[in-house]
Amino acid sequence: MKSAQTIANDVRDGSSSAVAELQRSLARIAERNDELNVFLYVDVEGATAAASAIDERRSRGEDVGPLAGVPIALKDNLCQIGIPTTCSSKILEGWRPPYSATIVDRLIAAGAVPVGKTNLDEFAMGSSTENSAFGPTRNPLDPSRVPGGSSGGSAAAVAADMTSISIGSDTGGSIRQPAALCGLVGMKPTYGLVSRYGLIAFSSSLDQIGPFAKTVGDAALLLEVIAGHDPLDATSLPEPAPSLVAHVNDGMAGKRVGLVRELYEGADESVVASVRAAAEALREAGCEIVELSIPELRLGLSAYYLIAPAEASSNLARYDGVRFGRRVDGEDVTAMMEATRTAGFGAEVKRRIMLGTYALSAGYYDAYYGQALKVRTLTIQAFARAYAQVDLLLGATTPGVAFKFGEKSNDPMAMYLNDVFTIPTNLAGDPAVSVPFGRGEENLPIGVQLLGPPRSEAQLFAAARVLEIADGRA
Ligand code: GLN
Repeated sequence: MKSAQTIANDVRDGSSSAVAELQRSLARIAERNDELNVFLYVDVEGATAAASAIDERRSRGEDVGPLAGVPIALKDNLCQIGIPTTCSSKILEGWRPPYSATIVDRLIAAGAVPVGKTNLDEFAMGSSTENSAFGPTRNPLDPSRVPGGSSGGSAAAVAADMTSISIGSDTGGSIRQPAALCGLVGMKPTYGLVSRYGLIAFSSSLDQIGPFAKTVGDAALLLEVIAGHDPLDATSLPEPAPSLVAHVNDGMAGKRVGLVRELYEGADESVVASVRAAAEALREAGCEIVELSIPELRLGLSAYYLIAPAEASSNLARYDGVRFGRRVDGEDVTAMMEATRTAGFGAEVKRRIMLGTYALSAGYYDAYYGQALKVRTLTIQAFARAYAQVDLLLGATTPGVAFKFGEKSNDPMAMYLNDVFTIPTNLAGDPAVSVPFGRGEENLPIGVQLLGPPRSEAQLFAAARVLEIADGRA
């Protein structure tokens, strides 16, 4: 599959066309979607019209944008006007948003062609896409294994060469974890860098939209297009989008990188070996490697499973059978809401709503939610102290390679533990990227994670690029 950068160049210089690139993408989807269950909806008509319009504009000599004619997949928790948007939940079945997310408008303005909506764990709660109401997505590298989650469909779309790039959302690891399990580059940007307007909320203080790609260059290009201030999101950072592509090859000479014990301890041996090899590759590129311990990070998972469910219990209150999607009738309004929510939500979503409601209830608020907020502050301070000493941090993305279906789905705790290395940065609001480095069991990909202070995306991509070259995928 051509990279997004190559597709855009080819479309811009006329050696290919947006329609030809779309047809290639649609053919690949037709070939593998029944087996892998990546797309919940493919917008053949809309995408074809968009691609034709780009070709027409190009033939008139117009600049068709940095993503000219690049087919792209969108996680199905992003609103695109008129296109079914389900969050992989029965409760939203049949709902078509009356507006588009800011990032969807930006992608279209940059020439990208949204081809469809990808599967996820219901409301982005999960690490395997097994929680989707519409069946799990399979990992294209080994269909007996999960692609990770919750953005499993977006990761699988790129891993299966259905599109060169895709969009996911990351609340506790949902971009980085599936990127690691599918052998891709995936970034969670600084909180506020990318507008959340039109992203269906899970945990608003943690949710961030970000890119999936096969190459660091493509991930940087995609993030550059979607980032930057948006007045429609009150938490949007005031600055314009940073320049990222121009810095991908800046290198890492003279930088200090902290290798964080809490971000790889307990991982499989092959994962620890990859993290150590990545540290060595950075050293060879001129970095100083400093071994660090940040004990506060051990508390991240527990704090996350109070804060995220607490926010979710509030955010999901809006699915009442009145305003969105599905309704199951009842004797009176209360019975109707109860029946709608009972039928509409899956087991994991109900578990989170109950956890969150409990953590916020009078008498328990201080002991649970209040304590978790204190841990969050400690996490922010601990990262800030680390970044006073080093430029970036290095660790594992996940404890192991892609796991088999059913391996963790009956044990919520085992599933939650998959995000133990990714969650701390969400609590802090800092950016982090997962980049493939080395291989594990059955030759499956391993992702290593680079973490940085707020707005360090350019440096993170430069470091990821060093690893991409060292891993022989340049
Ligand atoms: N797996 C984590 C959860 O279930 C993270 C999900 C996410 O980042 N959306 O909450």
